[in-house]
Amino acid sequence: MYSFNYVKAKSLQEVSDFLKSNPDARPLAGGMTLIPTMKARLAQPSHLVDIGGLKELQGIETKDGALVIGAGTRHGDVARSARVREAIPALAALAERIGDPQVRNLGTMGGSVANNDPAADYPAAVLGLGATVITNRRQIAADDFFQGLFTTALESGEIIVRLSFPVPKRAAYEKFAHPASGYAMTGVFVADTGKGIRVAVTGAGPGVFRWNEAEAALGKKLAVESVANLSVAADGMNEDLHGSREYRANLVSVLTKRAVAQLAGR
Ligand SMILES: Cc1cc2nc3c(=O)[nH]c(=O)nc-3n(C[C@H](O)[C@H](O)[C@H](O)COP(=O)(O)OP(=O)(O)OC[C@H]3O[C@@H](n4cnc5c(N)ncnc54)[C@H](O)[C@@H]3O)c2cc1C
Repeated sequence: MYSFNYVKAKSLQEVSDFLKSNPDARPLAGGMTLIPTMKARLAQPSHLVDIGGLKELQGIETKDGALVIGAGTRHGDVARSARVREAIPALAALAERIGDPQVRNLGTMGGSVANNDPAADYPAAVLGLGATVITNRRQIAADDFFQGLFTTALESGEIIVRLSFPVPKRAAYEKFAHPASGYAMTGVFVADTGKGIRVAVTGAGPGVFRWNEAEAALGKKLAVESVANLSVAADGMNEDLHGSREYRANLVSVLTKRAVAQLAGR
């Protein structure tokens, strides 16, 4: 690990000012991704600005038909929240299956969404539910936020403050977890938003994506039979020692059917 300076932030304004004057500084949330990345010498921030204790990044509330979650909320708190379980049970269930207890007790929703790992779970929920990412500068629709492998619309020094999830009529998430890490080999989030069906896929491709063909078919009839004969092309899917492109493409079909079956039961 390269040497760095540690700063404990007292307010969001202080973080914004600090990042503006120190372009090589990085916010530190749960540290579940950033610290291992630094240990592997893949990142060399000049300063870590600890945003873990900021009140502005905390809280879970329902407001105007949306579930609004502070970016600093830890995965375990999302999983245990009675408010999340009532409004969007699929989101609580997703959080409950992230990593292991240590990861869930330190990792945050904002850190996961900002990092945009291609195998992370939250991006599927954010995109599948058509959420809005609220930063210290603006509001960004999920459809504009995720821009491929570890890339988002966030600008230098921009901090995610909250995420606003429109409460769907029903939603379901199915993932095939990597047995060691829990990351999604593939995960599919299906939401009946009341205005249409959204299907978001994580883990399979270089970044989270919407499966438009499945959305159109399910929009006509929300039933497993609507997607029974659909498949995504293996070209462009991820391939590594854990699974081939074809394997992941097949997982997309299988998990979409499972998610729709789960949804139809609600
Ligand atoms: C063993 C292990 C297993 C895991 N399994 C899973 C899994 O099954 N599913 C899954 O989805 N994830 C998994 N993860 C990742 C985990 O969910 C992390 O919580 C997440 O990737 C990063 O969140 P964090 O709060 O730790 O962020 P950090 O590591 O602190 O930060 C990550 C990046 O985001 C930036 N950042 C942090 N907060 C903000 C913010 N509010 N605004 C702007 N930028 C910000 C940081 O500067 C950094 O670049 C796993 C991690 C580990 C170590």
